[in-house]
Amino acid sequence: MDREWGSKPGSGGAASGQNEAIDRRERLRRLALETIDLAKDPYFMRNHLGSYECKLCLTLHNNEGNYLAHTQGKRHQTNLAKRAAREAKEAPTQPQPLKRKVSVRKTVKIGRPGYRVTKQYDPELQQRSLLFQIEYPEIEDNLKPRHRFMSSYEQKVQPYDKRYQYLLFAAEPYEIIAFKVPSTEVDKSTPKFFSHWDPDSKMFTLQVYFKPTKPEPIKPQSAVGANGLPPPPPPPPQGQPPPPPPSGALPPPPPPMANNGFRPMPPPGGFGHPNM
Ligand SMILES: [Zn+2]
Repeated sequence: MDREWGSKPGSGGAASGQNEAIDRRERLRRLALETIDLAKDPYFMRNHLGSYECKLCLTLHNNEGNYLAHTQGKRHQTNLAKRAAREAKEAPTQPQPLKRKVSVRKTVKIGRPGYRVTKQYDPELQQRSLLFQIEYPEIEDNLKPRHRFMSSYEQKVQPYDKRYQYLLFAAEPYEIIAFKVPSTEVDKSTPKFFSHWDPDSKMFTLQVYFKPTKPEPIKPQSAVGANGLPPPPPPPPQGQPPPPPPSGALPPPPPPMANNGFRPMPPPGGFGHPNM
């Protein structure tokens, strides 16, 4: 038995060849240990017997070093190349969609502004008017709020009703708000019809006079969303109830100034002074 296991004296050639092979494998193992992270190797698997398998080549290895030496071997490398070629064929590179650089104005809406609507009656002119005061404390820099009238026919939020029109206010990043007001013709000839933006107090003021044609009282209704969305339920988000009582905190507008054409009037009562 001893003769079969050991080397015979003088026949050291085979033994040294074996040692060289072991040395080479050991060098490979060390190299692999240094350069390969087994945790990231998708083919390295520890089986339930405590030995290791190469899932790519379906080979068994009794320790990590042996597996790593295998990964440097011809068989494993060939299988890797084959698989890579097959995967490349099965999943051809998709043409990448061109990245278009479109500068879209992104405005994150931050909700509706607070507002106050005051009903007024001018006994001199015998005209009714509405005073809108919209607060835009977070308005974008150098922006002025806009307003415009919209006919009932034009809007898509509520059913058409010729008795009403809508008055819209817009100022980014706020949502657009709209007030439903009588479709009575707006009197733009009076100097009392004015709009004013106060950049210091961030208050937008608009006073609308209606031509004295209809006997029925002017009654502003609750604000509705004007973004094509169904109108959410009242009340306004920032809790200013519209409108205050007729005898409200605001004094009546000043009398019309003579010969001042369309010059805007200062907003009545304590909301800063116009600089227009
Ligand atoms: Zn392998």
